[in-house]
Amino acid sequence: MALKTAWNVISVVGLALTVHAASASTPTPNPAPAPKPSAVNPPAAKTAAKPATRNEPKGATKSDAKANVKADANTDAKPEPKPEPNAAPKPTPDAGPNPDTPAADAPDEHDAHAQPDPKADTQPAPDSHANVVKSMDPEAALKLLQEGNERWVSGKFENPNTGTERRQEQANAGQTPFVTVLTCADSRLPVERVFDRGVGEVFVIRVAGNVVGPHEAGTIEYGAGHLNARLLVVMGHTKCGAVAAACSGAKLEGNVGALVENIRPAVDRAKTSTGADGATLTSAAIKENVWQSVFDLLRTSPELCKMVKSGHVKVVGAVCDVSSGKVEWMGEHPWQDALVQAFIGRDTATANAQSQDSH
Ligand SMILES: [Zn+2]
Repeated sequence: MALKTAWNVISVVGLALTVHAASASTPTPNPAPAPKPSAVNPPAAKTAAKPATRNEPKGATKSDAKANVKADANTDAKPEPKPEPNAAPKPTPDAGPNPDTPAADAPDEHDAHAQPDPKADTQPAPDSHANVVKSMDPEAALKLLQEGNERWVSGKFENPNTGTERRQEQANAGQTPFVTVLTCADSRLPVERVFDRGVGEVFVIRVAGNVVGPHEAGTIEYGAGHLNARLLVVMGHTKCGAVAAACSGAKLEGNVGALVENIRPAVDRAKTSTGADGATLTSAAIKENVWQSVFDLLRTSPELCKMVKSGHVKVVGAVCDVSSGKVEWMGEHPWQDALVQAFIGRDTATANAQSQDSH
């Protein structure tokens, strides 16, 4: 583990230097650039966020059977992407909007869903959610979540879009989520309730420790690219057992052990930055682990990198307090631009292969 950690550090430094040298306009890795301010995106609660690498576990959550259509059978059995000691990704200077990246106004599945369906008993009205979501930008989506979380915290729920009519509309016209959320499997995190949203609005991927492997990345690509959800939230939470297990240093058997390995780089950074242990360490590691997941996602998914670079998708971190229910918004990864620049040029197969080789 010590060697693995050392490699992680070397990898991060190597990546940072490579990216920095490749582009004078790339944010200097150290110190990490601050997240972009946003009217609806509170100041990022930055922890020492160095992009660290990690491994992957995963019991992929299959939110939708369609998400598996393009699943790469070769990646199913592999545990995780991980540190790439010397595989400094090649930045691609070009980077303009990629033709493969769904444009905000391009015809997409939503359009298809909005078309009259001869089999449908109900059609979405002009002002239906299905149509509204098509024009919802990331900032508007984030605002909806923030407002919904305030209702969750205060107990003044509206439970929007949960009735029979809504279910029928979504069943007939197709789902129209405006946000993708990757979070932990913890049962104290009922995602739609935390954000007080309804049916067909939140495309959720849940896995212990909100770690990222090919299955999670593929599901997220589906939500952002095919379902056109233009906001992605990677959300950790207080009292996370997976992070606490990683902090304990205990050797865990079976698949749980493999999963927790993905969190260890975050724990190492938290130890370095805080010098603490116990609850303080766990708290810091929970935030570091959110950044770890964002890092692993961008590293695993060149497709998502393209969507982020084109502005089609906004990725923000968050931590939910399972006691109060309040979500703390962390903003974008402090190294996001540099990471996107570094990973965007790779193809998915190579990204996964390198991740697995370094595992
Ligand atoms: Zn958890």
